[in-house]
Amino acid sequence: MRFCPLCSGSSGNATYIEAGSARILIDAGLSCKRITELLQMIGVDPRTLSAILITHEHIDHVRGVNILSKKFDLPVYANADTWSVLKAPLRDVAPKNVCVFESDRDFYLSGVRILPFSVPHDAIHAVGYTVSSGGKKVGVCTDLGHVDARILSILSGCDLLLFEANHDVDMLMAGSYPYLLKKRILSGSGHMNNDDCGKALVKLHETGVKNVILGHLSQENNYPALAMVAVRAALEGAGIDDMQIAIAAREEPTGVFEIV
Ligand SMILES: [Zn+2]
Ligand SMILES: [Zn+2]
Repeated sequence: MRFCPLCSGSSGNATYIEAGSARILIDAGLSCKRITELLQMIGVDPRTLSAILITHEHIDHVRGVNILSKKFDLPVYANADTWSVLKAPLRDVAPKNVCVFESDRDFYLSGVRILPFSVPHDAIHAVGYTVSSGGKKVGVCTDLGHVDARILSILSGCDLLLFEANHDVDMLMAGSYPYLLKKRILSGSGHMNNDDCGKALVKLHETGVKNVILGHLSQENNYPALAMVAVRAALEGAGIDDMQIAIAAREEPTGVFEIV
C-alpha cells in the first residue's frame, strides 16, 4: 500500500491511498486544479483514481469533490446523512457517481476493504476510515472531539495512521477566536487537542500502532513543534520510544509512505 497526505488542516484536506488496484482519495478539500497538481507531484495521474471517499460535509473536506468527480468521472462515496446536507454546487455529482454507504459497515472497492466509522464531530454524521488490503491496514481519523473505546478498537493495529492533533488548549484559550468558536473546538464533538492525541496514541501503541502522522493542525492554535512535544511527552511518560511520528504538511504532499 502507498499512503500520502496531500494537504491537511482547516484550509483543505485530502489523502491519497493506493492499495492493490484501488487508487482512493479520502476527501478533496482543495480545488480540483490544486488536488490535480498535488497528485501529479507524487506521480499520480488523477485520471487513474478509483473513487473519492468523503468524511463529512465541512468545506475543507469537500471543496473539490464535484469538479473532480465530473472531470475524471469518479464515484463519490459518503453516507446518506452527509449527502443530504451537501448543497449545490457540491451536491452536483452525476447520479451514477453518487454512492451511498452505511457508516460502521465495511464495503469493498476493487477488493480493498473500506470501513467508514462514525466519529464525534460537529457535522451531521462524520466518519473516519480504515483501508485494509493484503494483511495491512491504514487509518484516517481527523475531525473528532474525542476518542472512545470503539474508535480505539477500530484503529487498533493500524500499520499507518493519520490522526488529529488540532490545537494546543492554552494557545486556543489565549487566542483571538470568539468564545463560541473556542467552545465548539474544545467540545467532545470538536477537534482533538495535542494532549488528548498523545493519550490516545499511548493506548493505540498497545495495539501495535507504531507509525503515525499527526494531521489537521490548527494554523492559529498550534505549531508542529508544539504538537510533537506534547505527543512525545505522553509517549515518553508511558515508556514508549518506538513510535515513529511525522507531521502532515498543510499545503503540500507530506511524502509517500510505503506500507509493505
Ligand atoms: Zn476539517
Ligand atoms: Zn470538520
